[in-house]
Amino acid sequence: MNLHLDEFYFMHFERPLRSSIQDFYDYVDNFLQCYIELTFILSEIVFEDVKVILNEKDFEKLTCFEYTDNFKDTCQICLEDYQENRIVVKTPCNHIFHKKCIKKWFCDTNVKCPLCREDIRTFLSS
Ligand SMILES: [Zn+2]
Ligand SMILES: [Zn+2]
Repeated sequence: MNLHLDEFYFMHFERPLRSSIQDFYDYVDNFLQCYIELTFILSEIVFEDVKVILNEKDFEKLTCFEYTDNFKDTCQICLEDYQENRIVVKTPCNHIFHKKCIKKWFCDTNVKCPLCREDIRTFLSS
């Protein structure tokens, strides 16, 4: 047996030690990565846009009328024309949609016009 003491030391002590240090670094690295991901996820939850919708009372203030044949267009929400479902709403920003389509949009999804992104509340409050 001609093994040098240094080599013996290296084989039996330093390597496991290095490996455990590496494990530790990996652990810390992994921990930090998880921490960063977690704070990112939390910030997404905390700063997520609060859903702003219109209440039904305000919705009823919008101009509602029955479609007439001289008005040829399609509802930009459902992409169907106004022949089938004739009750439409004209928004203050002069966009027309089926009443049921725009009601679902304003009262369930968003207060902004799906076409021009105008906030409908600014018209209703004045
Ligand atoms: Zn529609
Ligand atoms: Zn609009």
